[in-house]
Amino acid sequence: MARYVGPVCKLCRREGMKLYLKGERCYSEKCAYTRRPYPPGQHGQGRIKLSEYAVRLREKQKVRRIYGVLERQFQGYYQEASRRKGRTGEEMIALLERRLDNAIYRAGFAGSRSEARQLVRHGHVKLDGKRVDIPSYLVRVGQTLELTEGARKFGLVTSAVAASERRNQTSWLEVDKANFKASIKAPPPREDVNEPELREQLVVEYYSR
Ligand code: SF4
Repeated sequence: MARYVGPVCKLCRREGMKLYLKGERCYSEKCAYTRRPYPPGQHGQGRIKLSEYAVRLREKQKVRRIYGVLERQFQGYYQEASRRKGRTGEEMIALLERRLDNAIYRAGFAGSRSEARQLVRHGHVKLDGKRVDIPSYLVRVGQTLELTEGARKFGLVTSAVAASERRNQTSWLEVDKANFKASIKAPPPREDVNEPELREQLVVEYYSR
């Protein structure tokens, strides 16, 4: 599946908040949003009055960009969520959270979802002992993910693990940092997804208009 390869800090500036797309840099003074907290482009500092449609569009784009998913695939998550019994928005966030690249990021083995995606694509992630190289693979309760022996020595992995000590832990993963393993002990609860803030109801309204 294709992915976005353009400049990512512009995405944060467009959405008007930090989306944490660049790992450690996002927590430093080098963060582009910290330095220029207005939309990119010539008219970025102009007067902005968003229409109701634009508010919903921006929220949809924001969620999509946080998880690093392109439009077609993102629509698939919405459609799958709307077929489920629960509230569509929450079901959609739960599906996105269960992506293998997101689980690696949440476990603290990568500094950002794009780094996690690269670990998966390059074959450094095992699920229940078997190599899985599909970033969108949906992990299930009871499965255990781990990094391969080689990946445990990568600079990006060791620095991400050290940095993750300073951040909130995810309640649905039981992480064994010493062995670079994490088991999925519950479905991802909505309350765990709060940084940055998501308003998934607006995404549902965008697609159901
Ligand atoms: Fe760039 Fe991260 Fe700052 Fe976003 S939060 S502007 S990705 S450094």
